[in-house]
Formats: sequence, structure tokens, C-alpha cells
Amino acid sequence: MSITVRAAAKINLHLGVGRAREDGFHPLDTVYQAIGIHDDLTLTAAEGLSLDTLVADHIDPAGVPSGADNIVLRAARLLAQHAGRPAAGAFEVRKDIPVAGGMAGGSADAAAALVACDRLWDLETPDDVLLALAAELGSDIPFSLVGGTARGVGRGEVVTPVDDRGSWWWVAVPSPEGLSTPMVYRHFDTLRPDATEVPASAEPLLAALATGEPLQLARALHNDLQEPAIDLRPELGDLIVRGESEGALRGLVSGSGPTVVFLCDSADGARATAVGLAGAGHDVVLTATGPVAGAHVLA
Ligand code: ATP
Repeated sequence: MSITVRAAAKINLHLGVGRAREDGFHPLDTVYQAIGIHDDLTLTAAEGLSLDTLVADHIDPAGVPSGADNIVLRAARLLAQHAGRPAAGAFEVRKDIPVAGGMAGGSADAAAALVACDRLWDLETPDDVLLALAAELGSDIPFSLVGGTARGVGRGEVVTPVDDRGSWWWVAVPSPEGLSTPMVYRHFDTLRPDATEVPASAEPLLAALATGEPLQLARALHNDLQEPAIDLRPELGDLIVRGESEGALRGLVSGSGPTVVFLCDSADGARATAVGLAGAGHDVVLTATGPVAGAHVLA
């Protein structure tokens, strides 16, 4: 008996970051969108717990932990502990989401693991409990369960679906080398000692989403982590300029980076931008639409 769950990458259309609280966390006001770049996780009934990872050509397998550090096994153990049963099953994860790329690939896998274990172990865990367990594992994981387009507040873990009238075209350019999320936040603290406690509001972005108009959305995209990410990796700034000169409406660092995403006006616009960026020497250029569903079982 086995079950396969698909989970999507996320991008942040708005990422407002407030001053770090005493516990070290930064208050966020963010709008996530799940886009069509996926990891697929298959869980097969077995006595022990095991994990096998297969990665797409553009991913360095060395970046994905194989043992207990992999968030898939942590998710399985947490749900098993909550349900009072042994954690058992053989996981196979096929990764296409860039690793340490600001697209929440690990969070997608964790959400997929929660859904797969819940189904294979016949737990029927209520949604609110699954969301609470997800939040315990990581701030982006509740959104990976919910998918679509949603606002996230708190540490980003309190998610509410929002009105999104568009079907948006994105081009994503991952970097060969990941960027550590904590390092980008530390650099934000250095560059923005004047940051207010209350993060920049997502309201203008929500208004743009509700129009369904790519130009409106392009104008409203916002990421407070873009400046620190570019300061750490100046080539990301050059990449944004290049993609916009190839026809994209707007380029933006995704989350804490280093993946850069470009909003395009149409499928043709996305193709032209992707071809232009590939011609400029970017080996990996991915095209996707959003929003797509959160972690879900494949038939
Ligand atoms: P976020 O956008 O949530 O900050 P990210 O996309 O920058 O995340 P991930 O791909 O989730 O980063 O990986 C962050 C780190 O988590 C990796 O460097 C890796 O060591 C660890 N990790 C643990 N499990 C996984 C997994 N299943 N897939 C990828 N990375 C994992």
C-alpha cells in the first residue's frame, strides 16, 4: 500500500518584515502564492522509517539531508507522537523545488509528509490539528498545506486564503548556491535598525490581486528581504534588471532568496523572458503558473 502527495513551491508576493521580537522572531505580514513547481512524496507501508531522495538535474543532492535531519522524518515523527502510534513507512521524495532557494521546498515536503502519514495511517486528523502541528515544525508549513494564495501573519504561520482573481505567469531562476534564511534575516537587522515593530501591510498587494491585472500586481510586489539578499549576493540585482529587460513586468527576490521570480503578462511573455534569460547564461530557468493547490494526494 502506498500513497503519493504533491506539494508546491511558494513565492511571497508581499513580504513585510518587522523588527525582531525578544524571542528572535520577526513579525511578518506576507502574501504567499503556491506555484507550479512541485516535489512529489510517496509513502509506502513498511515496518521501520526510511527516506530516499531523488533530485532533479538542477538540484545538488548534497544540499538535502538524508537522515533524521530531513524535515520529512521530523514531520512523520511529530504526527506519530501526536497520534500515539509508531512512525513507520518508507518515504521517497522527488525534488524539483530548488533547495535553500527561498521557495519553501523543505516546508512543502513536510506538509506532504503530514498528509501522506495521516492518510496511510488512517488517522483522519482534523484540519486545525494538522495546521497546528505544521506550525510547530516551521512557519511556512501551514501555507504549504493550504496552498492557493493566502495571507500569513505572526511568523507567517497564521494563514488565511485571500481573493485572487488572476492566473499569473512566473519565471523562476534559482541560484546554483543556496542562501541561508537566518543569515538574510540577520543582515536585514543590520541594514534596517530603524525597522518598525509592525511590518509593512499587505493591503496594497491584496487590492492588486483582486483586480486580476498583471500590471497592477507588478507594481504592488514587495519584499523587505530583497535588499539584504541583494547586498549579500549583488548578482541577484543584475539578474532582476536582465529579466525585466527581456520583457518581464517585474523581478523580485523570492522570500529570503536567492531564487528570483519574474511576473510576466502572459504565457508568451513568460516564454520570451525564459528564453532571454537562458540566452544570457542562466542554466536553470523554470516557468510556472500560480496559484495552484496545497499538499494533496495524487490519484
Ligand atoms: P524557506 O523559503 O522556507 O526559508 P528555503 O526554500 O530557503 O526555505 P529549503 O529548501 O526548505 O529552504 O531548505 C532549507 C534547509 O533545510 C536546507 O538547507 C536543508 O539543509 C534543510 N532540509 C531539511 N529537509 C529538507 C528537505 N526535505 N528538502 C530540502 N531541504 C531540507
